[in-house]
Amino acid sequence: MIGCSCEVCRSLDYRDKRLRTSIHLEIDGQSLVIDTGPDFRQQMLRENIGKLDAVILTHAHRDHTSGIDDVRAYNFLQNMNMPVYGTAETLAQIKNDYAYIFGPDNYPGLPRLDLHTITENTFKIGNTSITPLPVLHLRLPVLGFRVGNFSYITDANAIPETTFEKLKGTKTLVINALQREQHISHFNLDQAIEIVKKINPEKAYFTHISHKMGLHSEVSKELPSTIALAIDGLQISC
Ligand SMILES: [Zn+2]
Ligand SMILES: [Zn+2]
Ligand SMILES: [Zn+2]
Repeated sequence: MIGCSCEVCRSLDYRDKRLRTSIHLEIDGQSLVIDTGPDFRQQMLRENIGKLDAVILTHAHRDHTSGIDDVRAYNFLQNMNMPVYGTAETLAQIKNDYAYIFGPDNYPGLPRLDLHTITENTFKIGNTSITPLPVLHLRLPVLGFRVGNFSYITDANAIPETTFEKLKGTKTLVINALQREQHISHFNLDQAIEIVKKINPEKAYFTHISHKMGLHSEVSKELPSTIALAIDGLQISC
């Protein structure tokens, strides 16, 4: 956190150094990312992602979208527009927030995006089926996504029963746990643990962690063996 000198922000443990929340999926020979936050460029460089087939957006908060300009590197590399998937509401917000991308002055160097509207129904990117997982982020509808037995939910503080149905059989779950204290629009640590118990995956990882959660090494000791705090650069095969 800018300007903070708490023990987490001063920690020398690499596991306490967190960029904004995003994941990269490799499946069926495709390379996909969920969300392009402000650290998108740094994350793609760090992980040496030389090819990207599509971007999927959970919602339009800036900490999940504001790296979208850097998609242009893939436009140049791959000589194609980048498919971007989101709900009608999310894509409308993208058009508003990044109006220069969609304006009449289509100058060279602009990112080139092809927007694809999704609903709550399962959709396909190439041969990969992706099932949206509607959740609530205070009043804002947000989508998590399920691919096979892997489910990813960021930015939620409530999960409707209809979405718990869609989560059945999840083996690997990634879900947001912001901090220890209650929060208006994110699960806190205790709530996230309860949600994991209800979904009952083989393994769960917490993401979207704030510095207020505490040190990785200390929080980790308190968690059940099936739950871990995610760290930047974590790779999971499932
Ligand atoms: Zn801090
Ligand atoms: Zn958000
Ligand atoms: Zn967020």
